[in-house]
Amino acid sequence: MKDITKHYSNGEVTIVWKPGVCIHSEKCFHGLPSVFNPNEKPWINAEGATTEQIISQIKQCPSGALSFFMNADATKEDGNLLDKL
Ligand code: SF4
Repeated sequence: MKDITKHYSNGEVTIVWKPGVCIHSEKCFHGLPSVFNPNEKPWINAEGATTEQIISQIKQCPSGALSFFMNADATKEDGNLLDKL
């Protein structure tokens, strides 16, 4: 479980979630329930808020289970990265 990494993208930002690192503090779904909703599958809806709101919420994750990268930056560094996700 520790090594699993999931990606959810709205085309601009990609949310990275590591379930093995999550400490279930519930900060994410209390802070931005339109994106982070454990009652839905998948539980992360990257289209549920603006990129700015998503990034600001991810920065509040206390465990580091949530992180993100901008798709434009990933494409710049490695043109094929997004195909590998
Ligand atoms: S804020 Fe981070 S640690 Fe808390 S439930 Fe969400 S992903 Fe898990």
